[in-house]
Amino acid sequence: MSARITGRTRLAGIIGWPVEQSLSPVMHNAAYQAMDLDWAYVPLPVADETDLIRVVGAIRVLPFVGFNVTMPYKQVMLELCDEAAMLATMAGAVNTVHCVDGRLIGYNTDGRGLVDSLAAEVGYEPQGTTVVIVGAGGAAGSALVSLVLGKAERVVLLNRTRENAEMLAERIRPHARETVIDVAMLGEDSAGEVREADLVINATPLGMGPTDQSPVPAEWLGAGQIVADMIYRAQPTPLVTAARSAGAKAVDGLGMLVAQGAIAMEIWGDEECGRAPRDIMRQAAEDAISARADSERGEGS
Ligand code: NAP
Repeated sequence: MSARITGRTRLAGIIGWPVEQSLSPVMHNAAYQAMDLDWAYVPLPVADETDLIRVVGAIRVLPFVGFNVTMPYKQVMLELCDEAAMLATMAGAVNTVHCVDGRLIGYNTDGRGLVDSLAAEVGYEPQGTTVVIVGAGGAAGSALVSLVLGKAERVVLLNRTRENAEMLAERIRPHARETVIDVAMLGEDSAGEVREADLVINATPLGMGPTDQSPVPAEWLGAGQIVADMIYRAQPTPLVTAARSAGAKAVDGLGMLVAQGAIAMEIWGDEECGRAPRDIMRQAAEDAISARADSERGEGS
């Protein structure tokens, strides 16, 4: 169902490249409709940083409530905002911008989206837990910040490139009074770290490709653990499959996607819009994923 557009419609959208596959437009527009908000959410494909600066300049003078930012602009958007929330500054990336009287205020809702969705789906609370994050890019950074704020006891960054994990750890350690942050290379030696973790997170793109393997094998996982993949797709991801076969509780990245979008909407709406309808947003995203999978199967047959 398309959004209702009037002379007073306020705008929201997602800036990135590419954005064609983004589920945010269906998820947000379903929520606006359910809440009877006169808002419309549109994809905003932006090819390079020169265009990004132009588009952000235009947004300042248009009736935007706010916008989301995805790859590859989450880091540079931090520089383009007039102010940024502490969480975005710590994560070094902005995925949500609130437009207030021509000023742009940057937030990062990815990490909180992950932790909120884990609380809702599997009852996870970070305090006192040991966590392994596979990956050390932007999404790993925002997860790490939320785990530090949630007082996790220890977080281990397992990454293909050790230096990238070291850089992330060094940036966050000064803010992490109650959390030990360690770094290791992802490889055969990672089994011990993964086995000891209460929560294992995949923050790499491994699992998006049709032939991708799980970033950690099922033998390293077991009952009593929670496994969170940031990836989502129509079928269970390789990590979710491995985790379930090992008896762990596993969730894919759809809950995180819904929660980060819901939190963004709540920031844009201030008090006026209240709590975003996560169930409606999730249903819209699931319907879009199934429709996409059906159409891909149709094309393949
Ligand atoms: P990013 O900044 O590009 O970081 C990617 C990370 O994955 C890096 O640590 C990289 O390691 C690692 N990596 C890439 N390919 C790999 C491979 N073949 N084997 C092992 N490690 C590999 O990306 P990001 O923004 O953090 O996003 C990471 C993933 O999270 C993406 O797939 C994204 O779609 C997903 N995500 C989901 C949500 C959600 O709402 N569910 C939100 C944000 C992101 P190196 O340092 O060695 O390059």
